[in-house]
Amino acid sequence: MGREGLGFNQSDIIDNNRTVLLRLLCRAGVCPRVELARQTGLKQSTITNITAEFIRWGLVQETGFLTGSKGRRSIGISLNNDDFGILSIRLARTHFVLSIFNLSAIQHSTRQYDIPDNQNADETFSQLCSAAEEMIRENAPRRILACGIAVPGPYSSINNRIALMTGTTGWSNIPLSGRLRERLNIPVFVEQDANCGALAQYWLNPEFYSSQVLIYIAVGQGVGAGILDSGTLVRGRLGMAGEIGHTSICYDGPQCTCGNRGCLENYCSSTSFTKAVNEALRPAAPLSFRDCAALLKSGNQTVMDLFLTLCDRLSVGIVNLINSFNPDVIILGDEMTHVMPDLMVEQIRKCVKDRCIPELFENTIIEKSLVAKDSFAHGAALKAIEDIFDHPSDYFAPAQEEYVK
Ligand SMILES: [Zn+2]
Repeated sequence: MGREGLGFNQSDIIDNNRTVLLRLLCRAGVCPRVELARQTGLKQSTITNITAEFIRWGLVQETGFLTGSKGRRSIGISLNNDDFGILSIRLARTHFVLSIFNLSAIQHSTRQYDIPDNQNADETFSQLCSAAEEMIRENAPRRILACGIAVPGPYSSINNRIALMTGTTGWSNIPLSGRLRERLNIPVFVEQDANCGALAQYWLNPEFYSSQVLIYIAVGQGVGAGILDSGTLVRGRLGMAGEIGHTSICYDGPQCTCGNRGCLENYCSSTSFTKAVNEALRPAAPLSFRDCAALLKSGNQTVMDLFLTLCDRLSVGIVNLINSFNPDVIILGDEMTHVMPDLMVEQIRKCVKDRCIPELFENTIIEKSLVAKDSFAHGAALKAIEDIFDHPSDYFAPAQEEYVK
């Protein structure tokens, strides 16, 4: 799949126009042909030809008459969200979530599964495959076209392996996409969860469509960043770019399992926060992250001090990102951010301002996640949807209809 070489052939141009149209339909919902032509800049005859092809494939459908601004009636076009779906999997250290999305990236069923303590990665993978097969069966006759999976990074796309999942063992031995593809018999796309978060923020927030550099920071059981350059993921050689959690903020800090010392993740993740609260309060029974979050919300001063320290340390990592990438926008998400999002953003803006080049700070928006639901699950679905939109003929065109490349 995908293009080869630098030049553009006729088939590349057709592919590109199809992709532009599908992306627009995904965002617009229902749109008449004349509006599709206006927004894409394509000739009306080209729009007519492409939509006719999509209707023949079953990928889009006509929705009936719409009334335009001058009272003119025209037939609406929309993606076929009734017959097709995407399976999204969000893998975390303690649980996984399966969801079905439609082609417009709207979630319409979801289920969470806990991972029992001390269960090894092979057993969890087997549990995940069975649950995924069941969900696909339950959604019949809707055809599930592809699967996107968000994993706690870093994930090596070349080696098809999770390179490191701190706090767990065994995942680096499992060729995730290959094994899932064999079980589910559909294309599978694996992406680091912070990259999925970045995709979701970009696709689901119209105000970010024109952003040049958007960075999403997942502050959860680990810490990672997804970086988008004009809507395209900055992936790096192995697909492992954005591992901000394993950048050091302390030269001689504690040794991390990645090999570095003083890694940001060991100061700012929900895991390290829970550890710090337990060490400070010395409770009779260990407190979970949920317990620590409740203490923070109730105004416990010790826990609040630890939270503000966490924000200060995270700010050091954020200043490094701003100085490296000069982003338009930085978005904070995941469970550590969800406890007191407004206070966290306020504290981080204050600390970043103290350390950052003023002109860079003044031109960087720092915000909490603007996606209402699980942005990793959304991003995983979008990863698969992007491939369908980039190569629709691979999914829909009958073999004899494929143009000669
Ligand atoms: Zn590390």
